Amino acid sequence: MVSTNYQYDIVIAGGGMVGLSLALMLVQEMPALQVAIVERAAVTHQPAVTGNSFDSRSTAVSAGSVELLDALEVWPALARHATAIRTVDVSDRGHLGRTRYSVANARAQHTLGALGFVLDNAHLGQALLAAVKQTGRITQLCPATVTAIAPKAQATEITVEFEQEQQASQTLRAQLLIVADGAESGLRKQLGIGVDINDYGQHAVIANVHHSEPHKCVAYERFTEQGPMALLPRGGGERGCQSALVWTRPESQLQTTLALSDEDCLAQIQNTFGYRLGSFQKISTRHHYPLKLSLAKEQVRSGLALVGNAAHFLHPVAGQGFNLAVRDCAQLTAALAEAHKQNTWLGSLPTLQAYLAKQSRDQFATTMLSHGFNSLFSNNRKPLQLLRNLGLLGLQAAPAAQKDFFDQMMGRGMARAELNLLQRYLLRKQAQAELAEV
Ligand SMILES: Cc1cc2nc3c(=O)[nH]c(=O)nc-3n(C[C@H](O)[C@H](O)[C@H](O)COP(=O)(O)OP(=O)(O)OC[C@H]3O[C@@H](n4cnc5c(N)ncnc54)[C@H](O)[C@@H]3O)c2cc1C
Repeated sequence: MVSTNYQYDIVIAGGGMVGLSLALMLVQEMPALQVAIVERAAVTHQPAVTGNSFDSRSTAVSAGSVELLDALEVWPALARHATAIRTVDVSDRGHLGRTRYSVANARAQHTLGALGFVLDNAHLGQALLAAVKQTGRITQLCPATVTAIAPKAQATEITVEFEQEQQASQTLRAQLLIVADGAESGLRKQLGIGVDINDYGQHAVIANVHHSEPHKCVAYERFTEQGPMALLPRGGGERGCQSALVWTRPESQLQTTLALSDEDCLAQIQNTFGYRLGSFQKISTRHHYPLKLSLAKEQVRSGLALVGNAAHFLHPVAGQGFNLAVRDCAQLTAALAEAHKQNTWLGSLPTLQAYLAKQSRDQFATTMLSHGFNSLFSNNRKPLQLLRNLGLLGLQAAPAAQKDFFDQMMGRGMARAELNLLQRYLLRKQAQAELAEV
């Protein structure tokens, strides 16, 4: 039996794209639940320049995530801003290896006629915030910061400090605190939860680029010795001539890249990417993000769960961070709904552990996909070059393996009992090649 001595059933610390999505799932599944989101940044409908969820980046959302956003009634407001990805083209600069996968060959049913969609983060933020408001059932404490967490018997106490001076700080008592405060999670640190970090020594430089040929709804992943470059179709339907660039640069070259004139920068992009999109003509302001793989050593404790970047921050090469987090949130919501039905404490450790047990295979597979992709393709050692080109050519020649691989990328493969064969094959071969080199 649950005590009723709570202000909220669930408090979410961090109202970025993951915190807001989770809040919507929770109240949709459990309408009687009292849910509050505490968000440090003032809610704004203008994109922040850089550094929070709703900045000038674009996000590739998989068809699986779109189905979830649709179920949350967020998708109708987003659909008109979204650019369909109908084909994914993966290639290796200077080599023959290349594979192309399109919605027409997909094994999974894609009712929306696309493998995924590209959204400006600013649009995603606006739609999520509007949907949260629309429910009328989620309390937004904002701008406010969670500054302290105290675990109690069958409860968590959360100290919230409000930005406005006239509002004092407040202590909230909840059944469960969900920490969704991002990759640099101050709360994770405060809780003494360590992280396993693999620093890639790379930065993602992002910008929007105009090109002379239409993108035709193709998302490109191009691998180079210095790291991958992605170009995601952005706007204008099939005939659109703009793409969102995510360009991985080694730490040592970051400042030089940022200091380039627009003209020189476009020339370098052209040289790296080639002419599949014609000539690059214009580039927006460039921003950059340090890249690492960071995995929290604990994701659940009694009365506490970590989600989103606070739980796992992945290399963006395969566009998986948000998509994985959305699936985590759906699985967590299902576990909590079961506990709610049984009228048991939502923060109970067995409930949270059951969630993690169900979701860990997906987390592992997706993490390996992002990490393996970057490690394998950011490397100019000969055995690995050969291997990845064989891998890409093999994918092109083996439709079944190709379908498995892209299903995982598009958030469709997570129900499979095993890691898909190709991923395991590539990872094993990579390890063998590395061993052979030592
Ligand atoms: C360059 C780049 C490209 C990417 N592209 C893709 C892609 O194409 N597809 C994809 O699926 N993923 C992509 N990702 C990953 C995706 O952006 C992240 O998975 C996502 O932003 C995680 O959101 P979050 O809500 O967990 O964290 P954040 O976006 O960091 O949000 C955390 C929020 O918590 C708030 N906060 C912090 N501390 C506190 C506190 N103490 N109290 C209250 N509030 C607090 C912050 O203000 C912030 O709003 C990309 C990432 C990068 C860097």
